Amino acid sequence: MARHFTQSKSYRDFTLSKVRTEADAFLCLTELAFGHSEVFACPICHHNGRHYLRAARKQWRCRECDGYFSPTSQTALHKRKIPCLKLVQAIIMYCAGSNGEAASQAAAILGVDPRTAWLLFSKLRECFVLTWDTSPMEGTVQADGGYFGGKPRRPNRRHKNESKAIGSLTRGRKAAIDPTVKKWTIEPWNAVKLKKRRCVLAIRELSGGAKQGASRTIVAIVPGESFAAMQPIFARAVKPGSTLMTDSGPGYTSLIVSYDHRTVNHSKEYSTPEGINNNQAESFLARLRRSEYGVFRAMRPTYLLDYSVSHQIRLVTTICDDTRSSSRGFVQQLH
Ligand SMILES: [Zn+2]
Repeated sequence: MARHFTQSKSYRDFTLSKVRTEADAFLCLTELAFGHSEVFACPICHHNGRHYLRAARKQWRCRECDGYFSPTSQTALHKRKIPCLKLVQAIIMYCAGSNGEAASQAAAILGVDPRTAWLLFSKLRECFVLTWDTSPMEGTVQADGGYFGGKPRRPNRRHKNESKAIGSLTRGRKAAIDPTVKKWTIEPWNAVKLKKRRCVLAIRELSGGAKQGASRTIVAIVPGESFAAMQPIFARAVKPGSTLMTDSGPGYTSLIVSYDHRTVNHSKEYSTPEGINNNQAESFLARLRRSEYGVFRAMRPTYLLDYSVSHQIRLVTTICDDTRSSSRGFVQQLH
């Protein structure tokens, strides 16, 4: 029976049971950061070779330039105070969380202050953002947008018409506002929340093989699914001439000038008989939605990209069913 990659043996190559001591964790962190635990390039002078281990200091000394460095040198985790063991355990937990990992839960498991866990996860997300591959995609690409943040708070006393109107307004369905409500005003606190609403545009490149899923994702934060907002993103993220699959939203129609644009009408079907769909992008946004509701609880516009990108990395490490493993997928991102 076909199984998802997260249920396969190759996905379980990076588990808590493999790292038990501080020395194990230091070598594991070295391998994660440099791709090898013995021969690697010095981050200061870039000399590639075997360097001197300073085990007591948990550092390496470069054979060429005599500089001292650690696996987290020149990364967002530079000058960390947390031990290597807890850091590796936190990385494993973050990579294994299919819908994100809550800092409060990690704090209880790792035995650290919740603020420490939250800061550590924030720095991991920063690592992802700094090393994100945003080179243009080609081949078959799927895209979709989803709105995150800015969810209005319901009133103390439920009023059927107001609730419907707020829901319609937040989704941009002005025509759906109940016409029987003569004078409708939004509460000041909900007006503030609505300003924090953003659209996450997910663009995913298909891996090519049947049922192989997507191989790479680029996300962007835009005000809405309008052509003016999305066109610059597509111009940078997708090579002209590529096959682009989206839903039939009006903001995508003008993309036919630059791409082989195919659309699927979601009011009729999820996928056309010819196989045109944007289900990979829908899948990405569905997982991010689960992260928002179930784990992170709230994502402010300032760090929405961090949450989205780190979610993408986890997906990339999750769905790849070739020789890349979850741990090696992270290696490439920690640099
Ligand atoms: Zn050096």
